[in-house]
Amino acid sequence: MHIRDARFLTSNTEVAKCPPATLPEYAFIGRSNVGKSSLINMLTARTGLAKTSSLPGKTQLINHFIINEQWYLVDLPGYGYARVSKESRAKWRKMIWAYLSKRENLTCVFVLIDSRLPPQPVDLEFISELGERGVPFVLAFTKADKQSTGKTQQNVDVFLAKMSETWDELPRWFITSASAREGRDAVLAFIEEVNGQ
Ligand code: GDP
Repeated sequence: MHIRDARFLTSNTEVAKCPPATLPEYAFIGRSNVGKSSLINMLTARTGLAKTSSLPGKTQLINHFIINEQWYLVDLPGYGYARVSKESRAKWRKMIWAYLSKRENLTCVFVLIDSRLPPQPVDLEFISELGERGVPFVLAFTKADKQSTGKTQQNVDVFLAKMSETWDELPRWFITSASAREGRDAVLAFIEEVNGQ
């Protein structure tokens, strides 16, 4: 897919205020600092589209972008940042699960996983909840350039093995690196395929 156009639309905290649910929608989420903003900028080839923030966990907004006037890309606030108050964690939960359960055009959630780490409980819990609520998702392993290809694949295998303890069917997954522009074609081809364009 060629990205001809990528535009920011809205930032808000409520599903009701999101743009009209008329186009397929792909949301991106993961632990704070997982590389979400970098990945979104890499995919859209727009350096400043999603803000790479030095203050993880600060933005608590649902950010909508429109791509090629054909689909929405949504940048969701990350989870798992230790220095976040109980109140903001509860606020995050309420907002995120309202969005993930109610947004009718939500086609697929990209759950970003740091490819350098062993399976993190916070990621596994988030994924379990997606499953319980029947929200479709795929995995994107990030920062693959930080280690050898073999090590990345090994970590992916460990993550998938952990998932298969509780899941009958494993999700689609992608290996990505914003720095090396790895995984861009595969992710965009997947979105194109799902959109049926
Ligand atoms: P976010 O909080 O999930 O949006 O994460 P950011 O995109 O702001 O990235 C967090 C940190 O990881 C920043 O210092 C990025 O430069 C770095 N980073 C993100 N993606 C990559 C990547 O693919 N490779 C490398 N080496 N660093 C990355």
